[in-house]
Order: sequence, then structure tokens, then C-alpha cells
Amino acid sequence: MTSPASRPTRRRLGISTRAIHGDPEARPDWTPVVPPIYQSSTFTNPIGSTAEVLYTRYGNNPNQVAIGKRLALLEGAEAALFTASGMGATALAHLAVLRPGDHLLSSEWIYGGVRRLFAQEFGRLGIEVSFVNPLHSRSWKQAMKKTTRAVFLETPTNPLVRVIDLEPIALLCKTEGLALVVDSTFASPVNFRPIEHGADLVIHSATKYLNGHSDVIAGGVAGSEPVIEEVRKLMQVWGQAIDPMAAWLVDRGMRTLAVRMERHNRNGLAVAEWCGAQQAITRVHYPGLPTHPDHETAKRVLGGFGGMLGIELKGGAHAAERFLRPLQIAAHAPSLGGVETLVSEPRLTSHASLSPAERERAGIPDGFLRFSIGLEDADDLIADFAQALAQL
Ligand SMILES: *Cc1c(COP(=O)(O)O)cnc(C)c1O
Repeated sequence: MTSPASRPTRRRLGISTRAIHGDPEARPDWTPVVPPIYQSSTFTNPIGSTAEVLYTRYGNNPNQVAIGKRLALLEGAEAALFTASGMGATALAHLAVLRPGDHLLSSEWIYGGVRRLFAQEFGRLGIEVSFVNPLHSRSWKQAMKKTTRAVFLETPTNPLVRVIDLEPIALLCKTEGLALVVDSTFASPVNFRPIEHGADLVIHSATKYLNGHSDVIAGGVAGSEPVIEEVRKLMQVWGQAIDPMAAWLVDRGMRTLAVRMERHNRNGLAVAEWCGAQQAITRVHYPGLPTHPDHETAKRVLGGFGGMLGIELKGGAHAAERFLRPLQIAAHAPSLGGVETLVSEPRLTSHASLSPAERERAGIPDGFLRFSIGLEDADDLIADFAQALAQL
């Protein structure tokens, strides 16, 4: 990023300041402190001008531009842009780096919608996709083909919150000349910045932590200037631009990202530790616990362990239902990353297409609950879970 000429080299700003101000600019007198919503599809043009037209589907509405710059600064990327959903961001990011005849190598532990996109839609575009276990670093290399052009993975994963060490995979991608695309939704740029670990493109469902208030559907992509330019061109013709109102809400949400993540991290750890001490809970999946298989990796690469955790209840699906009914604070709902605590059952949501035996083999037995721990007082959450456990 080049600084304005009037202000030469400045110290690098911290992530909280970047989340609020981006790259702060001089403020003329009488400008609003909060940017207005440009709820306009089109903008006046200078007569005779050949400059790019401003049109909200092009992604150059000021509300859209502001959040793109901010995401780039948060991820340490050259450029970024937002789309109408995380799915839109994922589809376009891949279309930007893949062509008919190419092969995409994907982690098998990915968001269900993305899996459907790859398995059902990419084939129709002539893009072959295969899936590998992301934790076996050798399996990546073994599954590569002559036509492989990109590698995709999600970290931390859903719902076992496994933390994948990107560096060996990034090294392999560099050697083979492949694009490494990482869905970093669960971490947010506060807890993990994939580009610092060798990724080429970072994807977010901004619906989750970036916006943080469960009131917007949006996606983000960050990476190098030429690739983001390619994503932008695709966004314009596939009609994936984010609406100005949604962009404004994401802008507002991102301002508190750093402080929200601090609380998510703190609450997540407090709830996970408490769960670990309960008789009725047979396992807790949280990377901040020493019992988690990726605890050492998590300590090394993550800035915080996050708000996502999984538990296994004694008594299977029946126990899960009995636990969910009396909850007063935590809501039974899919999605994640908002201020409020949500609980869902992967057997009925993300992993509904698997048989009980397949789920068991994947480490998600019936009785598995996924929590998105919010920003409430940890004591209140724990008291809510304690009274629900007492009903089993
Ligand atoms: C929710 C989610 C998506 C899809 O995002 P939408 O905003 O719902 O389109 C993709 N990846 C992950 C990890 C998600 O949690």
C-alpha cells in the first residue's frame, strides 16, 4: 500500500485500528464520521468521459469499495472485494483461477454448500474436482494430477475445529505452481491470516465473523491485485455484487471485529474448559484445550482459539434433543460468528447427507453439538448449559 504523499512513511497500524479506520485519510471539515449509505444503483458521469462508469453491480459503489480496502488491510493482501454471499465469493474465486480441463484438489472437510458447488456444478464447467483428507500432508501430493491448478481447504474445519498447518501445503503449491485458496471464515483475520502462511487467495463468508451480527449475507475474497481484478470481472457478469445496505452493515460490523474476536476467544475457552469437566460430555473439540489433537499447531499459528467448539454428549441424538430444549440463552440455529450463542446438530445440518455410520467414522457421532459461542457473559452461558445438562 502506498501512503498519500502528504503523509510519508507511517508506522504499521494494529489490527483493531485497521478494522476501524482502514488506512486513515485526512478528514475535511463537516464530513460525516460514519460514511453514508450510497443506496444508489447508478452515479452521474462527466459528459464525454471515458473513465469507468460507477454502477453498483460493478462493485465500485463507495460502500463496496470501502470494505474491500479494509479487508485487504486486515488480511495483508494487495486487494480484496466483497460479494453477495460467501458462496458467491467461493464460486468466483475458483472461476478466477481455473479453466475447463483443469483439476481442483480440495480438502474433504469443507462447508456443505461448497462441496455441492464443486461436486455438482464444477463438472458441468469441465473442471474436475477430487477430495482429500487435509490432515495427511502426503495425500495432497499423491492426489495431484498433471492438470491440477488449484488447492482448496478450510481451516479451522467444521465441526471438529481441526487446525491445518498451511506451510507444507503452501510449499507444495509453490513448487508445483498451483494456487492455494483458503476459506478462513472460522478464524477471521484476527485469529489467522492465511496469506502470511503462503496462501494465494483468502475467502470469507462475511455472513459470519466479519459482519458478526447475524443480519447480513455477504462474502469476501482477498489476494493479489491481478487475481482480485479477475474476480471483479467475473462478479460483474455473474451478478454477484454486494448490495450497498449490506456493505454498510458489514462496514459497521468490521469496526468491532478485533474486540469481538477477543471476547469470542475468551468465552470459547471458558466454555470449552467447563465442558471438559462435565461427566455427561464425553469429548470436547476446541483447539485451545491441550487434549485437542492440533493444540500445538493452533498455539503456533492462531492468534486466538476462536468461538467455535464441538461437544459429544453421552446418550446420542436423544440426549442432544433433551439438552437443546431447556436452553434459554443459546439459540438452536445454524450459522455462526454472531454476537449471540448458537447451537446446532451437524447430523441435521452440515452432515445430514451422511449415514450415521459415516458420521461416526468422520468423528461426528450422534449426540455431537456444535456451538458458536457469542459475546454474552461466560458465566451466564455456562449456567445455561449447566441447567440444560441437569435435565438429561
Ligand atoms: C457459511 C459458510 C460459507 C457460505 O457462506 P454464505 O455467506 O452462507 O454464502 C462458506 N464457508 C464456510 C466455512 C461457512 O461457514
